Amino acid sequence: MSNKKIRVRFAPSPTGWLHVGGLRTVLYNFLFSHQSIGWQKGTLILRIEDTDRQRLVPGATKNLIKVLHQMGIKYQEGPFLSGEKIIQKGKFGPYIQSMRVMTYRNLAQKLVDEGKAYYCFCSSERLIQLRKEQQTNKLPPRYDGRCRHLTKQQVKDNLAKHLPYVIRLAVPRRQEIKFHDLIHGIVSINSQDIDDQILLKSDGWPTYHLANVIDDHLMKITHVIRGEEWLPSTPKHVLLYQAFGWQSPQWVHLPLLLNADRSKLSKRQGDVAVEDFLAKGYLPTSLINFVALLGWHPKNDQEIFNLSELTKQFSLKRVQKAGAIFDQEKLDWMNGRYLKQLSIKQLTKLCLPYLQQDKLIGIISKQKIKIIATQEIKKILWLQKIIVLFQERIKKLSDIGLLNKFFFVNQPDYSPELLIWKKSDLSHTIVCLNKIIQSLINLKCFNQQHLNLALKVLGKQYSNGEIFWPLRVALTGMRQSPPPTDIALILGKDKTITRLREAVQKLNLNLHKNK
Ligand code: GLU
Repeated sequence: MSNKKIRVRFAPSPTGWLHVGGLRTVLYNFLFSHQSIGWQKGTLILRIEDTDRQRLVPGATKNLIKVLHQMGIKYQEGPFLSGEKIIQKGKFGPYIQSMRVMTYRNLAQKLVDEGKAYYCFCSSERLIQLRKEQQTNKLPPRYDGRCRHLTKQQVKDNLAKHLPYVIRLAVPRRQEIKFHDLIHGIVSINSQDIDDQILLKSDGWPTYHLANVIDDHLMKITHVIRGEEWLPSTPKHVLLYQAFGWQSPQWVHLPLLLNADRSKLSKRQGDVAVEDFLAKGYLPTSLINFVALLGWHPKNDQEIFNLSELTKQFSLKRVQKAGAIFDQEKLDWMNGRYLKQLSIKQLTKLCLPYLQQDKLIGIISKQKIKIIATQEIKKILWLQKIIVLFQERIKKLSDIGLLNKFFFVNQPDYSPELLIWKKSDLSHTIVCLNKIIQSLINLKCFNQQHLNLALKVLGKQYSNGEIFWPLRVALTGMRQSPPPTDIALILGKDKTITRLREAVQKLNLNLHKNK
């Protein structure tokens, strides 16, 4: 048994929101850090890769920390929030790359001093021209190495003239670069196909490759677990490890995420941002469960897992190589399943902001719910009755307003034709609706039992379709809904009868129009 501790990291560039692919990466890192087969339980690090100064988004790091917290993903080192302030914990910090720039500069210089990297003074005009020529000659775009062999004196002179420069890696020529990836096996590429990559830009900031490799080494990362889109960068990283004389970590590239048509999963925020899924009312538990199965599957066909079950069962060995399809229908199904398991109290609490958002109810503050105000409690109990009717039907919390809007309005909005059942006609529908009204008026007691009985009798006398179809439409304005008797009971006798009369009136108007 090795004593070596697993150290993994999630290293996002803070774009302002978390892509579902990023959630999967951090989740797999988290789950792997909990494995202890041959290793001690590991450490997960959050590292912010913010060296691309043009793409900085204010508040992005805070947002990221908050989302990870919401998803229940805990890490041990990196930036954390203390109130609204970012603090950092861990022996290998700072964990925000913009705070480590001197380290990158010094190490890039070290490579230059050792002849493994070089100053390049080529102007952007020259590089554009070079690219054009390569395009015309159908050659791959590549730096031609012009500055690679400048003499020490030439470099000195250029520096004295304050010519802008970048530092490039002197990629060894005609060398086979081989590395082992836990999922992809041996990957091999000839260094001929690798550009003399820029390590330090002319503004003194490092490129992703340089900062990423230096940090993985200094932070003692044992396994680099990241998306397959980074696989093409790995030979460059391997070369950097070689240049520094450091040992590479174990590489693990997770399968691509694909749309149902097998195209690469969209990058559009609205479709793939974890924050947007949460806002639509997907639960953190179902998102975690769903994302866990994007590329990994257990030994059996179990599909429902919570985070702690996942930590027990997850294994990188069962991560597939083939792309994983992001199946929205499966996510809806899974979220619906989790919603069904909630107690009605929990579900109502979660639905409140959505009902408020849809302006179906006023703001019920958390405080008010706590204070025993009879008025509010009545309202909540009434809401609970409604919400329970939809618990089986909603796929996400934001569906709730759309489905039960008719409870909150004076009259549902629908066209009179909708009241007519497919095997009936206008005058028959009027007759049936009047019969329903009459039998409801005659009811001694407006409860489930009496209501069901009365409607059953009418259903036998006419037909179930002729009775229940217009009843449903009159009460809800919709073709589909929970059982109309349940709805009538929540609306109460008066409102039910009013809606039925309203329906008759609509049809009468139509009857006269037709004459
Ligand atoms: N900063 C890179 C990203 O945005 C990190 C890639 C890696 O994990 O090496 O995903």
